[in-house]
Amino acid sequence: MRTVTLLGATGSIGSSTLDLVARNPERFRIHAVASGRDWAKLADVARASGARVAVIADEAGYAPLREALAGTATEVRAGEAAMVETAAEPVDLVVAAIVGAAGLAPTLAALEAGTTVALANKEALICAGDVMTAAARASGARILPIDSEHNAIFQVLEDVARISRIVLTASGGPFRCRSRAEMAAVTPAEAVKHPNWSMGAKISVDSATLMNKGLELIEAHHLFGVGPERLGVLVHPQSLVHGLVEYVDGSVLAQLGPADMRVPIAHALAWPERIATPVRRLDLAAASRLDFEEPDRERFPALALAEAALAAGGCRPCVLSAANEVAVGAFLEERIGFLEIAEVVADTLESLPAAPVTTLAEVAAADAEARARARSFAAQRARR
Ligand code: NAD
Ligand code: MG
Repeated sequence: MRTVTLLGATGSIGSSTLDLVARNPERFRIHAVASGRDWAKLADVARASGARVAVIADEAGYAPLREALAGTATEVRAGEAAMVETAAEPVDLVVAAIVGAAGLAPTLAALEAGTTVALANKEALICAGDVMTAAARASGARILPIDSEHNAIFQVLEDVARISRIVLTASGGPFRCRSRAEMAAVTPAEAVKHPNWSMGAKISVDSATLMNKGLELIEAHHLFGVGPERLGVLVHPQSLVHGLVEYVDGSVLAQLGPADMRVPIAHALAWPERIATPVRRLDLAAASRLDFEEPDRERFPALALAEAALAAGGCRPCVLSAANEVAVGAFLEERIGFLEIAEVVADTLESLPAAPVTTLAEVAAADAEARARARSFAAQRARR
């Protein structure tokens, strides 16, 4: 029996995780569930999973959550400090599925406590990769990737000293074949409608700009200890091959599977064992073809911005990610256009100096400064 704390329990990854847990009651027991502001959904999730603890980040959600869980054995907590304390409580596995930089502190707390972390919250590694991996090394905690490409690589990576390249695949998103002029007019509803995956709003927009793939290169760098010269991206519209590892002898190992996040989540939950899932089986004869193409960095400049941030290191990935969160938020609220997302990120990167970051406090400072700049660039663009 594995005890699990689920951070981001009400989101897309959270729901898929709870589905797998519910199908395997003899293997997993939920200790705590946590979310941002959506207390009603958190109450449902806590009841359905029989969680011992439910934590809501937004303190205004405390009273209604308590009321909604009256008569249950679930202990209700609220606020960021409670989130961090809960993440540090001893369990077998913490599933880190909060979206954005809000996931950093609780993920770090779990790693510092020595708990295995099944990581979906890629922003934790992008903003503070060195801090997270140092904490994991110090405590002996293991990070198991949930992000599908990284989970794929994890499944086929035998020895990092014997590889020549890691390649992440990208679907290309909903605008893979659109011109810049066409992309200028796309709406949030079009941008979140991913051709292959069903995901939260922020990562769906990141997939449409290809920022997601850039962020994932940074994530791969920290997870596997591989430099940018050995990391590549291929656009693969069918999303059936999730990642490839090329060995020094020329052999290439790839992981394939249906585009369903329950496959990598199940892998991380059960590792080193495997559990059955109800996902549609991969039918290669029905798919009939697997296409690959180079990404177009001119139509999708966010990818090049992320690659430059990875090469520069220090605070640059954190600045990139923070500015991107602000810009995506502004786009989803229809304050800026789709193409302006990358422009706001580029402006923010240009306006802030490079600096090393070695502590979470330094990361938080870089994040706050980047958000303030990005907000002002987004506001300038919104006025036009
Ligand atoms: P989502 O928007 O569906 O859910 C986000 C979750 O985070 C919700 O439970 C929300 O309540 C919680 N949250 C938000 N702010 C919070 C805060 N301040 N404190 C605590 N909880 C907070 O997002 P998602 O699609 O499930 O993605 C979650 C993470 O997983 C992201 O980092 C994303 O990049 C990554 N990821 C998602 C997918 C996918 O298929 N959805 C795939 C790969 C990686
Ligand atoms: Mg991914």
